[in-house]
Amino acid sequence: MLGHSHATSGALAWSGAAAALPISYLTFPVVSGGHLGTVDLVMGTFLTAGAALLPDADHPSGTISHVLGPISHVACKAISWASGGHRHATHSFAFVAAVTYGTWAGVHWLGRWFTLALVFFLLALAVRALNLCPPGEGFRSYGTVTVLAVAGTFVMDQWIADKPTWLPFSVGLGAFVHLFGDCLTDHGCRLFWPLKIRTCVPLISRTGNKLETWVLSPLFVAGTLAVLWYTITHQP
Ligand SMILES: [Zn+2]
Repeated sequence: MLGHSHATSGALAWSGAAAALPISYLTFPVVSGGHLGTVDLVMGTFLTAGAALLPDADHPSGTISHVLGPISHVACKAISWASGGHRHATHSFAFVAAVTYGTWAGVHWLGRWFTLALVFFLLALAVRALNLCPPGEGFRSYGTVTVLAVAGTFVMDQWIADKPTWLPFSVGLGAFVHLFGDCLTDHGCRLFWPLKIRTCVPLISRTGNKLETWVLSPLFVAGTLAVLWYTITHQP
């Protein structure tokens, strides 16, 4: 699947989960009503969109690899090598558990600088995947990504809680939705890595096709906006 399909499906999954599930319990003991507040809801939408790119950190030429120029490219090459190539370790339930727990541990033990660094990185991924920057691999592209992500991080710094308890859920959900999307393509994923079983329900024939760009992604965006609007206007 393409970066923008992953990002937009992540956003839709977050808004749907926030509308349907009692995510506010994740903010215990600060539970406000039955649902997350509007600000957390909107921040989570962008961050989950970014998190939905994380499993492709094993892809040296994917969206995530170009997000911050040479730095992310080298990091992705290393992760690709360590995880056994594309769609191996990072496309498994074990990876979803690892990023969820890693986020929780970072937020709790490393504190605010970890939270803000993660926010910056996830925003950078979202900006890149949602094509909010010039295309390509040049400085113009990742310079724009950096400026927008820094600006977004400053904004979120005003609003995000000291220990945003929904953040691990948001990151885990994004990664999970990514796996779901990749399972719908030809190659499938090794969800139960390190087992060799490959899960594959090939409904989308080829990555990069027009169906994703012109049908799926716009539908995901429209769905996200509709669910957010409904949730926000029906808050108690
Ligand atoms: Zn993938």
